[in-house]
Amino acid sequence: MRELLDKLYATNSLTKEEIIEVLRHLDEADHKDVLFDYAHKTRLAHYGPRVFMRGLVEFSNYCKQDCLYCGIRASNRKVERYRLTPQDILECCTEGYELGYRTFVLQSGEDFWYTEERLEEILGLIKGKYPEVAITLSIGERSRATYERLYKAGADRFLLRHETASKELYEKLHPASMSFDNRMECLRTLKEIGYQVGAGFMVGLPGQTTHHLAEDLHFLHTFQPDMIGIGPFIAHNDTPLKGQKGGTVEDTLTMVAFTRLLVPKANLPATTAMGTLDPQGRERAIKAGANVVMPNLSPISVKDKYSLYENKICTGDEASHCRSCLEMRIKVSGFDIDLGRGDSLNWIQHA
Ligand code: SAM
Repeated sequence: MRELLDKLYATNSLTKEEIIEVLRHLDEADHKDVLFDYAHKTRLAHYGPRVFMRGLVEFSNYCKQDCLYCGIRASNRKVERYRLTPQDILECCTEGYELGYRTFVLQSGEDFWYTEERLEEILGLIKGKYPEVAITLSIGERSRATYERLYKAGADRFLLRHETASKELYEKLHPASMSFDNRMECLRTLKEIGYQVGAGFMVGLPGQTTHHLAEDLHFLHTFQPDMIGIGPFIAHNDTPLKGQKGGTVEDTLTMVAFTRLLVPKANLPATTAMGTLDPQGRERAIKAGANVVMPNLSPISVKDKYSLYENKICTGDEASHCRSCLEMRIKVSGFDIDLGRGDSLNWIQHA
């Protein structure tokens, strides 16, 4: 077992069978401490002690999809829906720019009110005013033609978590109208177009086994995304998964550390869901190999409506408060903040 951990550290590679073997024996001896230590050293080797800060704008909670786990799924009639106008979104970015951010992540449900033209307008407004910033879109599945057009209009990066790399588990957690193969195809298309691409998954999904998690890790190693979002599944009371147990901080930290070792040059965020389960969750993720945080820039009036899961943190905080709170947390943990574009080293290598 220790030999496998040493191999993982030395080569950043394991077979799927070896990944399963490591996951099965991690709770023995000091294996987990070794995994975290190797992940931390790997992160230092590539990104040093820097933690990139991205400004997150959650610009619409309308969604045509019906993922069983998600609080903003189309069937949830209890959510108060909102949309930010292109001008509202620009204002959030202006505030973010003044706070020092040079990367903006624009996220929403799958909301086709934002047509190609509207999305182009938003990208044009932000890039017109701030040409040097990087813009990340996270708006779900669209056609290749749309992805191409948005790339040309100035989108640099795209986050589309694969959610789970197991087709069988994916199909249990999504309605028949959603396709595992299409989601994976979208990821490949985005990469081909030239985006910095983010994949990722939830830990602790109902029915998820060690074998499923090994599939996620193996997929990430093969696909080598530029960004990887990993967070615990947290049940939402107005979804069919209400009352389900959900993921733990401990298991999610293990996945973050393992991912740092299998995809050493990826940008890995310490997710808000980690901070929701444990006040120190994001700091612990940073110590386990994460190198990105995404403070929220959305207007306070809408923050609590983007409720993917219960008890989401920071929904009452001003953007400037989120900025200083996270800066303080990063510094106290012994890391440095970096407000630059923070391009993925995986992408820089191939660009
Ligand atoms: N609509 C876009 C998409 O599908 O990629 C982006 C928005 S979607 C709400 C963002 C992410 O939230 C999903 O990829 C999923 O992993 C996460 N999420 C949704 N419900 C969750 C839950 N109950 N617990 C934890 N994470 C959740």
